[in-house]
Amino acid sequence: MKLTKKIISAALAATLMVVSFSGCSEKENTNVERTNDTPDLAYKISDKKITLDLFYTGTYGSAVDDEAGRLTNIYVKNVVPASTTDATNAYNVMLASGNIPDLVSYSITDIEKEAFEGAFVALDEYIDELAPNIKKFLDENPDKKASITSYDGHIYSIPLFEAGETAAGYYIRQDWLDKLGLKAPTTVDELYTVLKAFKEQDPNGNGIQDEIPFFQRSMNLMGIISRFDLKDGFYVDESSDSIVHGKYSEKYKMAIETISKWYKEGLIDPDIFTRGSNAREELLGNDIGGMTHDWFASTSRYNEQLKDKIEGFNFAPVAPPADINGKVWESSARMVGVRGYAVSADSEYIEEAIKYMDFWFSEPGLILQSYGVEGKHFNYVDGAPVFTDEYLSSTKSMNEAWASEGITLYRSSVQNFDAERQWMAPAALEGAKLYIDNGYCSKPQPQLSFSPDEKKVLSTKWTAVDTYMKEMEQKWILGKNDVVADWNEYIETCKSFGMEEILKIYNDAYTRYKEVKSK
Ligand code: CA
Repeated sequence: MKLTKKIISAALAATLMVVSFSGCSEKENTNVERTNDTPDLAYKISDKKITLDLFYTGTYGSAVDDEAGRLTNIYVKNVVPASTTDATNAYNVMLASGNIPDLVSYSITDIEKEAFEGAFVALDEYIDELAPNIKKFLDENPDKKASITSYDGHIYSIPLFEAGETAAGYYIRQDWLDKLGLKAPTTVDELYTVLKAFKEQDPNGNGIQDEIPFFQRSMNLMGIISRFDLKDGFYVDESSDSIVHGKYSEKYKMAIETISKWYKEGLIDPDIFTRGSNAREELLGNDIGGMTHDWFASTSRYNEQLKDKIEGFNFAPVAPPADINGKVWESSARMVGVRGYAVSADSEYIEEAIKYMDFWFSEPGLILQSYGVEGKHFNYVDGAPVFTDEYLSSTKSMNEAWASEGITLYRSSVQNFDAERQWMAPAALEGAKLYIDNGYCSKPQPQLSFSPDEKKVLSTKWTAVDTYMKEMEQKWILGKNDVVADWNEYIETCKSFGMEEILKIYNDAYTRYKEVKSK
């Protein structure tokens, strides 16, 4: 493997000599026009053109990377075939081959595992000297720095840091509310009243009680569960400044008690656990879904899609109903950043690769990452980048339209919420504004790093607890079991599977996180 790479490098070097030679002659002749191959001197990283091998799975377009190459003289070549659909398999095959490309874009957690074995470079050892833009960003964002720092204190991967405060929000059939003379629910009691009215008063006007008042994609009822003052999964409980788990608390018992009652009364999708990810298409498209909790950008598309099919269809974003303590807040939050570049320890271009990662934190790098190439994907209007009409009218989803041009790929960089905003439908913009202006949004949870030993415990014990929790939740909501009767046994069973040990591991990791953050 190594040998093959050397041979390729030698061939490349021969090509490079030609390139750098013509580069010299250009410098002497100032009349030569700049071509697309001429590096922009201000951001040039290397005198000779360097091509880094890149491992990138998922939709990948090279337009943006080519422009970065023109500016930096560092180009990337994605070695993953476009036909690859199984990212995990591709990653494992790549690792097993022993030939790790110079740059690898993959999940931080997986990168870390291989980094402990020496496959990837500890980036923190280079950042001070070679990456001023990254250093500045991490110094200004100690919480983000702590979230990407491994349990051993090193940074092995720098993700695409997410931007924007909003994630999911509540959506309701405003035209149904109007028809029934109701207002959007602002408390848990009002939520019950509205869902009950949707169920019993035939808002779709077909003479049958076929309405499904509340539904949610992906077997998840956090939209309602969170109204009992808890969040999904492991999270920081602010009053105790420690990590707790949402389904391991008395509040959760209360939430499930209420939801199972609502389920019995037909207020919750009867197929909540089996309907799958197409719940919105199915239930909104058939004019029977009333309310949900989901992502702004995608949920807002249905007004446009269904306006000719369902008269008066208006699926509108509304403020979260206050929780049982009267607090109005949104439980979902964006992640800090889950995937970005790592640098192979075998790379012959480690320093160049790190400088290249730093370019994506510079001003032109950040613009390129979020908006693409000026003149091609966007133009400046009053000094601000605005996507071209041609590009915005793409029939592809935002993510596909972007990725196929190489915009907002999982590089080491920072996402820009304004770019996303330009793609949002009016109802999504309205929703995002409602949630941001009123400060409903939750902050991202810290991303924690575990030692190999801790990971071993989590992978066995947590899997068992998680499976059991999901199983019990379904039984309770579907009315097969009674949550109040089962509760003590449920807690004891979680404990016997290792829940206390799991929480201790999480809190140890959280302590390390806080230490990095306060450094
Ligand atoms: Ca009906």
